[in-house]
Amino acid sequence: MAPGAPTGPTGPTGPTRSSGPGGSAGLVQASSPSGSSRTDSLRGVPTGDHLPPWSWPLPAVPAVTRHFIPPPEPWHAGHRGVDLMVGPGNDVLSPADGVVTFVGMVAGRPVLSIGHDGGLVSSFEPVKSPLAKGARVERGQRIGTPAGPPHCPFACIHWGVRRNGKYVNPLDYVTDRRPSVLLPLPGGLR
Ligand SMILES: [Zn+2]
Repeated sequence: MAPGAPTGPTGPTGPTRSSGPGGSAGLVQASSPSGSSRTDSLRGVPTGDHLPPWSWPLPAVPAVTRHFIPPPEPWHAGHRGVDLMVGPGNDVLSPADGVVTFVGMVAGRPVLSIGHDGGLVSSFEPVKSPLAKGARVERGQRIGTPAGPPHCPFACIHWGVRRNGKYVNPLDYVTDRRPSVLLPLPGGLR
């Protein structure tokens, strides 16, 4: 598959049409150049020893209304992401630093894709974004607004994550699912 060309959330999609890059004004905000004034007090970032690598793509931890269901074979139906309930006025936030790899329509729905480190790509729909392909985004930055044909019977966004082209569970990046680790005894056995 060509990089940055997301498939639909439930299976192979029909004809794909990209819209123009659109304007780049609006939600983009330059970060402060002051350098040392970095803040770690981002809302929604849990504390603890094992921080998930990403933050939720919505301002508050959302309800997950439909979970990831990997298809048994790539051509089978499944649910290639998670559905997140959207609160009134919620913007969509980038879950990690990255670069916009796709903005446009897929099967009649506005889709925004962000490429992250590690061969990971987040795709959101239906989400309209003023960002253009190639734009750099930071974790927590506003990247768009939910808009377009509904994906759920209520306000929601579908969030899909691909790792090297294969769909994976987005929740693995925002929740700590590691098993607890038995620490070695002080001094070891020797
Ligand atoms: Zn979905």
